[in-house]
Amino acid sequence: MTQHIAFIGLGNMGGHMAKNLLKKDFRVTVYDLNKSAMASLKEAGAETADNAQSAVKDADVIISMLPNGAIVKSLYMGAKGLIKDISKDVLIIDSSTIAADDARAVAKACQQQGIAMIDAPVSGGTAAAEAGTLTFICGGEAAHFEAAKTVLSAMGRHIFHAGASGAGQVAKICNNMLLAIHMIGTAEALNMGAQQGLDPKVMSEIMKASSGNNWSLQVYNPYPDVMPHVPASNDYQGGFMVDLMSKDLGLSQELAAKSGSATPLGALAAQLYQIHQAGGAGGKDFSSILQLLQKH
Ligand code: NAD
Repeated sequence: MTQHIAFIGLGNMGGHMAKNLLKKDFRVTVYDLNKSAMASLKEAGAETADNAQSAVKDADVIISMLPNGAIVKSLYMGAKGLIKDISKDVLIIDSSTIAADDARAVAKACQQQGIAMIDAPVSGGTAAAEAGTLTFICGGEAAHFEAAKTVLSAMGRHIFHAGASGAGQVAKICNNMLLAIHMIGTAEALNMGAQQGLDPKVMSEIMKASSGNNWSLQVYNPYPDVMPHVPASNDYQGGFMVDLMSKDLGLSQELAAKSGSATPLGALAAQLYQIHQAGGAGGKDFSSILQLLQKH
């Protein structure tokens, strides 16, 4: 029987992910605070709901793709929290990037109600979300991870089980700290080369074939007009917002403090993104960190 999926959170990532589920013939019911995001999914064949509680009615799987942990906790555990009313057979997959402790708190509340839940944050950005080639980094019981695999495969290419509940979020935050560091480094190198009169396109090709090669250079160049179809070539619109990267770097520093890990570059990256955010760039894509460097 076709699985019925309730999808909550249809932003830059969730909208594409829900569309990929429809392409694989899942029945999908969606909810987002943003009406135009819902209209776009309706056009693609989804059913729409007036609130999260109605969206999850009769669902086999609930997927959430929301901005932060406070919103995720409120969705599942708040006054109208979903886990109070749903069937014990439902599988919850939270793909938002949130603190590991928040993910564990939701998983524990689910467990107390006999409901299966995994944390399954993603990597790959909006292009991978659209292409259905995301990497899913999961935490939770092995049986729940196995149960989630078919649905996750409809939206992603690489699906990892990082460990127990919260482990997906830990791995994701480590990855995003590294992403911020190499994005800033890439922007610094391209900016310096350009200020020396070099063509950023040529610089990029040189570094891609040299030891500075990295993901930001390969698929997400921060310098405008080096690469088509990336936020840098579209006035830094869409993509992964500075607000969200700043949140993730904050989570990385909380994690570092808890585990006593030395993350000096992560700390500096967190500061740089905070400065950029405070300067009014919160809604721009995170590769716009280049513009902060160009101001100085
Ligand atoms: P986004 O801000 O574009 O989308 C979030 C959506 O959630 C919005 O449409 C918003 O209206 C909706 N929303 C907020 N509160 C809600 C509520 N209470 N009920 C229903 N809908 C609600 O964010 P995004 O870029 O899609 O990111 C979503 C999550 O994925 C974040 O945790 C982010 O850190 C993570 N992430 C993003 C990227 C990326 O490249 N954008 C990559 C990997 C992970």
